[in-house]
Amino acid sequence: MPASYKIIDHTYDAVVVGAGGSGLRATMGIAEAGLKTACITKVFPTRSHTVAAQGGIAASLGNNSPDHWSWHMYDTVKGSDWLGDQDAIEYLCREAPQAVYELEHAGVPFSRNDDGTIYQRPFGGHMQNMGEGPPVQRTCAAADRTGHAMLHALYQQSLKYDADFYVEYFALDLIMENGVCRGVIALCMEDGSIHRFRAHNVVLATGGYGRCYFSATSAHTCTGDGNAMVLRAGLPLQDMEFVQFHPTGIYGAGVLITEGARGEGGYLTNSEGERFMERYAPSAKDLASRDVVSRSMAMEMREGRGVGPHKDHIYLHLDHIDPKVLAERLPGITETGKIFAGVDLTRQALPVTPTVHYNMGGIPTNYHGEVVRLRDGDPDSVVPGLFAVGEAACVSVHGANRLGSNSLIDLVVFGRATGLRIKDQLKPGTPHNPLPKGSEELALNRLDTFRHASGATPTAQLRTEMQRTMQKHCAVFRDSALLTEGVSQMESIYAGLQDVGVKDRSLIWNTDMVETLELDNLMAQASVTIKAAENRKESRGAHMHEDFPERDDANWMKHTLTRFDGWGGKGGGVAIDYRPVHDYTMTDDIEYIKPKKRVY
Ligand SMILES: Cc1cc2nc3c(=O)[nH]c(=O)nc-3n(C[C@H](O)[C@H](O)[C@H](O)COP(=O)(O)OP(=O)(O)OC[C@H]3O[C@@H](n4cnc5c(N)ncnc54)[C@H](O)[C@@H]3O)c2cc1C
Repeated sequence: MPASYKIIDHTYDAVVVGAGGSGLRATMGIAEAGLKTACITKVFPTRSHTVAAQGGIAASLGNNSPDHWSWHMYDTVKGSDWLGDQDAIEYLCREAPQAVYELEHAGVPFSRNDDGTIYQRPFGGHMQNMGEGPPVQRTCAAADRTGHAMLHALYQQSLKYDADFYVEYFALDLIMENGVCRGVIALCMEDGSIHRFRAHNVVLATGGYGRCYFSATSAHTCTGDGNAMVLRAGLPLQDMEFVQFHPTGIYGAGVLITEGARGEGGYLTNSEGERFMERYAPSAKDLASRDVVSRSMAMEMREGRGVGPHKDHIYLHLDHIDPKVLAERLPGITETGKIFAGVDLTRQALPVTPTVHYNMGGIPTNYHGEVVRLRDGDPDSVVPGLFAVGEAACVSVHGANRLGSNSLIDLVVFGRATGLRIKDQLKPGTPHNPLPKGSEELALNRLDTFRHASGATPTAQLRTEMQRTMQKHCAVFRDSALLTEGVSQMESIYAGLQDVGVKDRSLIWNTDMVETLELDNLMAQASVTIKAAENRKESRGAHMHEDFPERDDANWMKHTLTRFDGWGGKGGGVAIDYRPVHDYTMTDDIEYIKPKKRVY
């Protein structure tokens, strides 16, 4: 082990890595059960990306239109293009209403109807009557600041219980022993000390990895660190080829305009002023699911009907909506339009373009949050001691495409489920075995490598190369030639890490070094994402492969598992396996929803 590191030891029943909506909900539940709990986070809890969620959280409360959890389940299965696991989707949709009431009681200031019930708005792909329509109002909202309200309420609640928070601690790697997770190693960015957390359970709640791409709505901190730790532990990630593009990122800035804008009546037009979504999705129109709307926009631009001198964007109209409604329901985006596009939404159309928004893929888990792996032919064997929740996890409820407002509900439903599972399995005060010798080596050797990296390539340059490659070769439309070239470019960009240079050797507030560690994490995920995309020879949900434009259930209704061992000489590159999609439900109350052609 490198000699210069001072290690501080901690012992907990459970350690949660991440303090976004999913991490805080898990922390709250585990601490409430009387277990000694720590939450480690690289940013202050209320700065986690969940804070940026605008549109809302889906649950079949039926306040503004008739609804039922089985309709929500149908829409989620269809949205997933039948790649979602239906037992997990049933769990999500059944538990959703209770989870929203729980948030209400925790202090989330939801917008209200005149009769005092929680206000719900329409969102893409959410329909009444098992997909028959009309659109349902299922998305509960606190104006257009739902994530912000949720995160503040959950943070306040988790302070009430006895959880310890380690804020601005950067988790480096898991401690694994014979396939069991025993803890995690973290760097305190403030004073440069190294912390070894020994725990019976580790919960990864580290969010998505949108920053693999050049234009993304996600925060700069969304680097999927937990996903990369899992890869370094030799475990697989699942369905990484499925990356969601949100139809309405502000052109040029990438900042999100919530789908709630179309939920409140907004619509898209091309350079001819045509409401083109009527052609692509005659019934759901502008509220078709995100992959469908993003593809339709890309099609319009490709065929020369984009707006602007380069015909490379589309207009979003809200100027026909009563300014009073805009001020009440969408105050944040009115401000965003002004700041990032210089547009007054009450009078002008807003330039938008599809922008990377969400990762359907991640750490495979069952609906108790337990991480699963393919072991001895058993695709559902769990990794003892390891859990994952939120965008980092792949439960899989979103399958090949997530419906808007289904992530926030995923965070709290599975954050809670994880807490319940841990509570069931672990008695407070259960004694710990000593950690294996050298348990910190993986983490510290890697830290040392990047801390002393003295090559000629600045981190930012390498990151831009990766982001541009992913944006060009692994975007809304994909084909074999683009993907094959992209895979080989990623391989050589990854090799560029050998020549990366970090200017500062200090461990204290060394942002250059931390960004390089994050870049290394991003590179591993970009590598498995593009390789999994190249491998999947069909089109499903967000993965649109132009050489294989149809969904192919006979050959491809299965989850992709990818392991990564570095490219080229260093290791074996990306290895691919598969897991079957769960073709069963959780209870006998509802039957497996059989695959159909997906039209909106
Ligand atoms: C702009 C925007 C708007 C959205 N709007 C909606 C919406 O309206 N409805 C909806 O359902 N979904 C929405 N989504 C998606 C949804 O908000 C996210 O998927 C969700 O908030 C992710 O939550 P999380 O708990 O998984 O992770 P995050 O909220 O991303 O939190 C990750 C946490 O992990 C910590 N962390 C990460 N790496 C490390 C490390 N190495 N060491 C220590 N800590 C670490 C971070 O500090 C942070 O606390 C939106 C997403 C974006 C980007």
